[in-house]
Amino acid sequence: MLELTEQIAALDRIYTERGRWSRVYATLSPRGHLHRDRHCRTLRPTTILAWLVGLADVSSEEVIALAGWRACGACFPTADMERRRSLPSGVDAFADYMDTHGRR
Ligand SMILES: [Zn+2]
Repeated sequence: MLELTEQIAALDRIYTERGRWSRVYATLSPRGHLHRDRHCRTLRPTTILAWLVGLADVSSEEVIALAGWRACGACFPTADMERRRSLPSGVDAFADYMDTHGRR
């Protein structure tokens, strides 16, 4: 755990030194959402997140288009939240994680 914390801190230093860019995190659960920030108000301290580095510097509009209903309403607010809840998602970080770790 300490090793992971140190790795995150090292990557956060690079992130800060290079002027920061937008990031995306996914809640690792079957109905998990994508978040802009690890400190999103909808998350609990025990929520497990996957850092989607492939979506670095992707705009909020692009995240919504890609993730549909999985784009967190707090992190990616729009005026049409009701409609968004019915949009399909092209992202399933939990399924990807389970496949990668041979847990299906
Ligand atoms: Zn969020």
